[in-house]
Amino acid sequence: MKNVYKLGAFARIGIFVHWTTLVMFAGLFLYYLWLGASLGGALAGVMLVAFVFGCVILHELGHALTARRFGIATLDITMYPIGGIARLERMPREPRQEFWIAVAGPAVNLGIAAVLCALNLATGRSLGIDTLLPPHTTVLGMLMWVNLLLAGFNLLPAFPMDGGRVLRAWLASKMPYARATRIAAWTGQGMAVLFGFFGVIGFNPVLLFIALFVFFGAREEARVVAEAERAARNAPFEAPYNAA
Ligand SMILES: [Zn+2]
Repeated sequence: MKNVYKLGAFARIGIFVHWTTLVMFAGLFLYYLWLGASLGGALAGVMLVAFVFGCVILHELGHALTARRFGIATLDITMYPIGGIARLERMPREPRQEFWIAVAGPAVNLGIAAVLCALNLATGRSLGIDTLLPPHTTVLGMLMWVNLLLAGFNLLPAFPMDGGRVLRAWLASKMPYARATRIAAWTGQGMAVLFGFFGVIGFNPVLLFIALFVFFGAREEARVVAEAERAARNAPFEAPYNAA
């Protein structure tokens, strides 16, 4: 793969970071300095975001290790500024397997949030959502809320995000695979338009990028499935899969 740097490996799965992510971290550091933070303060702010990225890597490992249980290897995990992608070598057409692979990511975030909640309680810290943002930010509180938000956001039915894959798996258990994919993709594109709308009115570039990723990702997967369906009506087929 081009333009990526290896962070390490876990369970023989290579974990990479795309160069744009490094630029984002550098930009964030400069931004904190520009806001008037000290060197140490800016570094602490970047570290906090790095912790969030660590939680996203664990989320992707949730997908990858669940896929492995179904005999599906993960080519690599790559971190981008808007999130991570676990590239699975293939996606099973078995809806039950797609369901478990998709929910494993958000389940990891819920698990992390539960542990952080226990730590917050054990140390007598506030669990309030005000810990998410300054001036009341606490590392444990902020990370707990971020993990809850990551789980909730990823479970929205925005195919090809996790919730969209859950929707496709559920639909595919009731109707032909191509039709289930088409409906999930339309739903995903509808969600992408909503993300785009809120991205524009809230001036949130991350949400705008996610909107584009979902809109074109849904279109591409629906196209690949429809093409394969046409090419081999009854032949066994495995769709490509990128678990976001
Ligand atoms: Zn995911």
